[in-house]
Amino acid sequence: MTGRIIDGVALAAKIREDVASRTSALIAAGTKPGLAVVLVGSDPASQVYVKNKVAACQKAGLHSVLEQYPPSMTQAELLDRVRALNADPAIHGILVQLPLPAHIDSHLVIETIAPEKDVDGFHVSNAGLLMTGKPLFRPCTPYGVMKMLASEGVQLRGAVAVVIGASNIVGKPMTMLLQSAGATVTICNSKTRDLGWHTRHADIVVVATGKPRMVDGSMIKPGAVVIDVGINRGADGKLCGDVDFDSVIQVASAVTPVPGGVGPMTIAMLLVNTLEAAERAQHKRAQ
Ligand code: NDP
Repeated sequence: MTGRIIDGVALAAKIREDVASRTSALIAAGTKPGLAVVLVGSDPASQVYVKNKVAACQKAGLHSVLEQYPPSMTQAELLDRVRALNADPAIHGILVQLPLPAHIDSHLVIETIAPEKDVDGFHVSNAGLLMTGKPLFRPCTPYGVMKMLASEGVQLRGAVAVVIGASNIVGKPMTMLLQSAGATVTICNSKTRDLGWHTRHADIVVVATGKPRMVDGSMIKPGAVVIDVGINRGADGKLCGDVDFDSVIQVASAVTPVPGGVGPMTIAMLLVNTLEAAERAQHKRAQ
């Protein structure tokens, strides 16, 4: 058996088209959705991510601003910028690219973003809303994974799902979204004993560890759906995921590739979150 490749590029393109048409309608109604992306420091991977995010916004007709600051920026200066963006009516979404330099408290920065502009969905009030089943923003990467599962027609109600990785930005919100959709979810971390025992019982496996190719075909139940969130650069300079694609596709019914899987979906869902923040702001103004 050889599984299907889930095409994140094609699905993301469809979502971006939909965002573009909703954006035109919103502009006609008097609001141009705006995203501010803030980058502190010179991490090369972060620079690529932020440029891709801003370019995707512009292509879909959204207003976007990229603010780049040197690694010497102080925490107080960054907090001032975030507060200024909170107060800027042209900005509906604020994204501070992580990781931040070590002298800046990321948690404090995220907590300073106005929750209604927190398009990453990382603010504790947004994490709490997600946990209580009433999300305002769904964090972009897990949200993108949910869209991929829906587009593949994967039955979530009653499914057994395993999420490997328990970060606040991917693993934990992924777990919440899957369980809200009716799956029975196990979340694994680096201390999990016999990881393969868990994954071999799963209908859906989502891997977000940052450990290149750590999940192989021997760990997957025949017919399972495998989602690879990982983005790693191998010794050869090429991108690879946390899943050993070649062995997993022999066993799974469907697998996401890296690149071309979850990555483009993350950006597409950032556009959706920004657009929806702007739609809510427009609705509030009209009331
Ligand atoms: P973190 O480093 O914050 O978290 C990694 C998680 O994986 C931790 O919970 C850790 O466990 C767990 N883990 C590490 N090694 C193992 C192991 N051997 N077995 C089981 N669990 C393990 O990573 P992120 O969540 O930020 O990112 C994960 C990956 O996803 C990275 O490759 C990142 O680049 C990628 N990513 C991709 C995005 C996209 O758009 N496609 C967006 C965001 C991230 P413990 O808690 O015990 O430390």
